[in-house]
Amino acid sequence: MVMSEEERKKRNNVECDRCGEGIYRPPSKLKRSKVFYCSLRCHNLAQRERLTDKERKDATRQTKLKYAHSAKGKAKIQERYLKNRPVLLEYKKDWVKKNKKRSLSNSKAYYEINKDAISAKAKEYYQKNRVTIAVKQKKYNTKNKEVITKKHQEYYQENKPKLLAINRQWAINNIDKVLEMARKYRRINEIKIRADNQKMRDELQCGYIKKIICARSSITFKDIPQLLIDAKRSHLKCLRLIKELENGQRPTEN
Ligand SMILES: [Zn+2]
Repeated sequence: MVMSEEERKKRNNVECDRCGEGIYRPPSKLKRSKVFYCSLRCHNLAQRERLTDKERKDATRQTKLKYAHSAKGKAKIQERYLKNRPVLLEYKKDWVKKNKKRSLSNSKAYYEINKDAISAKAKEYYQKNRVTIAVKQKKYNTKNKEVITKKHQEYYQENKPKLLAINRQWAINNIDKVLEMARKYRRINEIKIRADNQKMRDELQCGYIKKIICARSSITFKDIPQLLIDAKRSHLKCLRLIKELENGQRPTEN
């Protein structure tokens, strides 16, 4: 049944509580309520207008949050972000540059709160992408070999006492490992070590002479003055010369 404008107006028996427009409500509904709205829009707006400023602000915030967490909202936000990404990144960079201290303290605070989650996430990411990461790392290292080596050397020189102390402490705590490593090194480099030792003996190097001096006394390497080393070297040279003469050889030059 199609009603004309005139007929409809005649039928209207109540006004919208917000905009005052005439509307028709069946008697059964009139009994149940005293306030009516012409539309959902009027209903919602009226509800909103009843709130205090603070309540309204909170409601807006809640609505926005709810939207941002919904699938639709998420997609929309993502879309907007991707569209404006270059501008946003530029803006962020600018902000960080201008607010270095605040940015740093923000990051720190965020990290402190989310420490466990961040490290768990990083671990998970690493486990998942282990192979790719290794390949990338290797590629980067080969490409920047010189720079990296230089940086390491600089760092080592700058922090030498600290690093040596750390190493020493580690060695003390892991003496078994250190001994095992030394054994392994000796096993692998047996020939080279033997050749080095022979060279040290032949050339009467300082290290060799120090070893001989220490073997017969309780002093340590760093207690031995250069003068004593030189004297011991001359002494050893004499002994060798005597031996060669005894064997009927022609004495060697040094
Ligand atoms: Zn209305």
